[in-house]
Amino acid sequence: MGSIHYENNNNNNIHITNPLDPEEFRNQAYKVVDFIADYYKNIEQFPVLSQVHPGYLRKTLTQQSAPDDPECLESILRDVDRFVVPGISHWQSPNFFAYFPSSSSSAGLLGEMLSTGFNVVGFNWVSSPAATELEMLVVDWFGEMLKLPKSFLFSGGGGSGGGGVLQGTTCEAILSTLVAARDQKLKVIGRDMFSKLVVYGSDQTHMSLQKAAQVAGFGEENFRVIKTTKSDSFGLSPTSLKMAIQSDIEKGFVPLYLCATIGTTSTNAVDPLDSLCEIAQQNGIWVHVDAAYAGSVCICPEFRHFLDGVEKANSFSLNAHKWFFTAPDCCCLWLKDPSALRNSLSVNPSYLKNKATDSGEVVDYKDWQITLSRRFRAMKLWVVMKSYGVANLRMFLRSHVKMAKLFEELVGRDERFEVVVPRNFGLVCFRLSFSEIDKSNAMNLKLLERINKSGKAYMTHTMVAGMYLIRFSVGGTMTEERHVVSAWKLVQELADEIYLM
Ligand code: PLP
Repeated sequence: MGSIHYENNNNNNIHITNPLDPEEFRNQAYKVVDFIADYYKNIEQFPVLSQVHPGYLRKTLTQQSAPDDPECLESILRDVDRFVVPGISHWQSPNFFAYFPSSSSSAGLLGEMLSTGFNVVGFNWVSSPAATELEMLVVDWFGEMLKLPKSFLFSGGGGSGGGGVLQGTTCEAILSTLVAARDQKLKVIGRDMFSKLVVYGSDQTHMSLQKAAQVAGFGEENFRVIKTTKSDSFGLSPTSLKMAIQSDIEKGFVPLYLCATIGTTSTNAVDPLDSLCEIAQQNGIWVHVDAAYAGSVCICPEFRHFLDGVEKANSFSLNAHKWFFTAPDCCCLWLKDPSALRNSLSVNPSYLKNKATDSGEVVDYKDWQITLSRRFRAMKLWVVMKSYGVANLRMFLRSHVKMAKLFEELVGRDERFEVVVPRNFGLVCFRLSFSEIDKSNAMNLKLLERINKSGKAYMTHTMVAGMYLIRFSVGGTMTEERHVVSAWKLVQELADEIYLM
């Protein structure tokens, strides 16, 4: 056993013999927890969007290589404060309205601490049974909260065979389901038909689909980006999908995979799932539903209708690390037929052979994902669900939507602005509207630059149908109505300046 593990005398002479001493860890961890709690307490003091310039860190750090001698935690935390914090864009600030949220919570952080504390690598059941079994439990709990069809759940019964897995990100979920769909199809039509397979999405589908297609070996000629229109609120039109499929079939292509989105990244458009799935089913297409952001709010009964039709899809995913109070990474993926995934992703070297796997009674999650090693993500999701309970989780999500609605109303009252697409969830897309589109885009770009340069709020933009829009996304755990009202006042003040120019 180590004797003196971490000694810091006044000469700063530290002697370490054991990098994991429980008592030392206890002392140090309290200090880090204090540091984080103070960070959250003071978070509003910082400019939301970091104002540093590229390369700032190398330029400001005096220490240019890894130290030969150990440093004490106090000194490390001083460096974090001095050098790292200025380069952080504060995603947990209540004035963060950019991208989509990455909502922290006490339970999420504590769950993360437990997960990292155990530090198990549960790639198969035997490597840490609780990691696998807790994951199977939480994906079922989440699926039940979302009222997913039983065919997606482990507890579905009747030999449904469905189930879920916690992957890192939606990019991984889409890639792994695309590979599963590809191999399932090629098994039927022959591997030499690979060059004929076609993947479908819309011009609003997240770039995850394109990346997945590229990684899985699909060329541009096998990737269809179907155009959406403002009149369809940028949702994928079933008629357009049908036409694209027909045209492909006539040319000898084989429709393979459709990624439908509930809550697109640009404007939160919702693809009409039920009709798209009907068309896909008629053409033997695997449908993956990407609800990375908006999926979480569908635990509220009044939002559940956005998922209608999911029962006809093959797979469904959402990011708990976006809007479910859980730190990254935590993408929940459910499948009706996980055997398709396992057939593509299962590799069984002799060094991983074990009795539990041979018994066929266990889930080995290494076969449900691309990587072998995996984090104990279920722990944080479980702690979040248990700490808050479904009623509170719904209440938190509804409060964000309510604040977005308030912002939408404020925008609507100022005739210089327009809300460009109907708001579905916690995202408001708005802009200063001028009759001339180029002028409108230039002015909105200028407005957004000024908002973010102020450091008082952070918003991001998107381009749809040639329009430059500002996205105001509410979902920060610490955001209150007063932050939303202040952000709007800031937008109005900066718009006044732009009008005076
Ligand atoms: N899909 C949608 C609709 C998204 O909004 C995002 C990210 O914002 C993603 C996919 C990508 O998620 P990830 O970073 O987990 O791959």
